[in-house]
Amino acid sequence: MSHPIETYALIFVVGALIGSFLNVVIYRTPVILLAGAEDEINEEPTIPATFGSRLKWTLNYFWEDFSYSVSYLFKDFWVESGAVLKGLSFPGSHCGNCQNSVAWYDNLPVISWFILAGRCRHCHEPYSFRYPLIEALTGLLFVYVFWLKGPSLDLFAWLFWAAALWAVFWIDVDTQFVFNVMTYPSIFLGILYNGSKGNLKWSLAGGLLAWCLFEAIALLSVLLLKKEGMGGGDVKLAMLLGVWLEPKLLMISLMLAFVTGSLAGLALVAIRRQSQPFPFGPFLVLGGLVALSVGDSLWAWYIDKSIW
Ligand SMILES: [Zn+2]
Repeated sequence: MSHPIETYALIFVVGALIGSFLNVVIYRTPVILLAGAEDEINEEPTIPATFGSRLKWTLNYFWEDFSYSVSYLFKDFWVESGAVLKGLSFPGSHCGNCQNSVAWYDNLPVISWFILAGRCRHCHEPYSFRYPLIEALTGLLFVYVFWLKGPSLDLFAWLFWAAALWAVFWIDVDTQFVFNVMTYPSIFLGILYNGSKGNLKWSLAGGLLAWCLFEAIALLSVLLLKKEGMGGGDVKLAMLLGVWLEPKLLMISLMLAFVTGSLAGLALVAIRRQSQPFPFGPFLVLGGLVALSVGDSLWAWYIDKSIW
């Protein structure tokens, strides 16, 4: 769809402003949610050696994860979102070094970082280049979604979808955690959105399909490979893609995630000469975002090339 260049510029600026907010979300959410949880983070599960006891362990693990995921909705979700909302709104932007608050004119997305040469106005502490980078990339992400969806009410839903995925991407890169508090609201909004379009059936089916697939991978990797191959957070992230994207786009996005994730895993092994856990969430996010535009053509190409 073609629109005047000014429209794209405006969308970019809006995206960069949202990106500035996402920087706060990305930085503060793990700090808030992981406070006092260090023991749990370092806790490696002991997976039993024999196949029979591993099967029992796996089923128990599955049941505990499942019942927690459901009960989370009724209690912990509200506690955690309350804590995150409070932590995001207070205190305002300030320098982590000298504690001086950042004035609005020093907090302009992308621009301020360059005007201040990447340093605090007061104490000259250097700020990471990642802040303006994430702001600029969020601007581009908004332009991308606008280019696909055009000016419509739907655009707001898809911008929310993309922004939530984008925050999940960076939090997973930083901490290797995909937090429920970030995925649950988006899962429900996806079901509501597609329900309002008369697509309730495939939205629920997509979420269920993603859940089955990722739970199966998680269980089989414990059972056969004796290690945790997929975190509970990845399962919810896959469901998030499933409830938003129509089934063929879901398949394409998962395929893209598995292909790029495996390549990255192999590259990591080649570089570090040993296998190390790395976050899979970012690959799911990129798979979903890419599938939104080229998913249909990739699907047509795939069906065309395969024998069936
Ligand atoms: Zn400072």
